Amino acid sequence: MDLFEYQAKDLFRRSGIAVPDGRVASSSAAAEKIAAKLGGRVVVKAQVQVGGRGKAGGIKLADDAAAARAAAEQIIGMDIKGHKVQRVLVERAGDIKAELYASFLLDRTAKAFLGMASAKGGVDVEEVAATDPEAIAQVHVSPLTGLQPYHVRQMLFDAAIPKEAHKGATALIEKMYAFFVDIDASLVEVNPMVLTGAGDVIALDAKVSLDDNAAYRQQTYSKLAAGIPLPKQEKIAKEKNLNYVKLDGEIGIIGNGAGLTMSTLDVVAEAGGRPANFLDIGGGANAATMAAGIDLIFSDRKVRSLFVNIFGGITRCDEVARGILGALGQLPNLKAPIVVRLDGTNAAEGRRILEDAAHSAIHMAPTMLDAASKAVALTGKGRR
Ligand code: GDP
Ligand code: MN
Repeated sequence: MDLFEYQAKDLFRRSGIAVPDGRVASSSAAAEKIAAKLGGRVVVKAQVQVGGRGKAGGIKLADDAAAARAAAEQIIGMDIKGHKVQRVLVERAGDIKAELYASFLLDRTAKAFLGMASAKGGVDVEEVAATDPEAIAQVHVSPLTGLQPYHVRQMLFDAAIPKEAHKGATALIEKMYAFFVDIDASLVEVNPMVLTGAGDVIALDAKVSLDDNAAYRQQTYSKLAAGIPLPKQEKIAKEKNLNYVKLDGEIGIIGNGAGLTMSTLDVVAEAGGRPANFLDIGGGANAATMAAGIDLIFSDRKVRSLFVNIFGGITRCDEVARGILGALGQLPNLKAPIVVRLDGTNAAEGRRILEDAAHSAIHMAPTMLDAASKAVALTGKGRR
C-alpha cells in the first residue's frame, strides 16, 4: 500500500520526524483557509501516489492565502501520470539551503534492510543512480542488530553530506529507521531531505510503502487504506469477493489458481500483449462467478479481448464451459472475443460443449501460447 504524502507526513510527525507544518485540503477554499492560518509563504502540493509532481506542475509556491487558493484551483483536477488530483497539501514553505536524500527499504536478495543517502536530493533518484551511482551511499543493515551509529556515519560520509547537516541528518535518519521498522514499511523515502537556513534538517517530501502482509498487526493500516481510493474495478471485485488486481493492458485474464494466472500474464506478455488484470477465479467457475468476473473485466474500457485459461483439477472443465456459456447468457451485449484454453479434468468434454454452442464470441485454442497469441491478435476485433 502506497501512502499519500500527507498520510506519510502525519505518521512522520507522530514519530518525531521533522516535517513542515501543514494540512491537506480537497477544495481551493479549504486550501486558502489553511494558508491563512499558517501565514506567510506556503507551498501547495498535489496529492497523488506517484513521484515527479514538481516537474508535472503539481507543486506551486504561493506568497499569501489568495495565491494559495489560485494554486489549489489549478492543481486540483490535474492529471499527473494518469492520477487525478483530488487533494492538495498546503504547507509552510521551507527555507532551503540544500536538498539531500535518505531512504530505507527492504533488500530481499541481501536478506537485510538497505539504507541509502545522497547529497544530490530533490532530483529523480533513479536518474542519479544511472548517471552518477557514486553519489548514492548504500549501507546494509541487518534486521537482527538494527541500525547502529556507525551505519549512519557511513551513510553520511559516503554520500558526502555537508558537515553542517550531519547532526540533523543523523537524528532524522535514526528516527526514519525506527519508523520504518515499527510500521512494517517496505520503503521509506525522504527526497528531498532539506537543510534549512537555520541549520535544521527536515523531511520536505515523504514516500512510504507499507507491507500489506503486516496488516494483521498494524491497526493503522485499515484507517490509512480508507483514505486511499481504489480503482473502480477493485472496488467491485471486493464487493463480489473476486481475487482481482487491475493492470494497465488491453487483454483481460481469467485463470484458476494464482500460479496459473500469474503464468498466464507472462505468456500474454511473451505473445506481445499487455494483460489488463489478474483474476484468479479459483474453484468458483460456475456461471454466476464467471459472469461476475467477465463483467468486471469488461467494465475496464481498455479491455479488447479476454483469455480464459483453465487447468482442470478439482475444477472440472465441463463445468467451466457451462459457466462461460451461462455467463454469456447473462451478458447479451458482450461482443468482444473470448479465447478459451481448457486442459486437465474433463477438458475434452468442456471443449465439445463450447464447440457445440458455436457462440460467435468464443474462440478455442489448444495451448497457453496459442491462446495468448490469439487473444493478442483479436484485440483489433473490437469490444462489447
Ligand atoms: P516530487 O516532485 O513529487 O518528488 O515532490 P517533492 O515534494 O519532492 O517536491 C519537488 C521539489 O519542489 C523539491 O525538490 C523542491 O525543490 C520543491 N519544493 C517542495 N516543497 C518546497 C518548499 O516548501 N519550498 C521550496 N522553495 N521548494 C519546495
Ligand atoms: Mn520528492
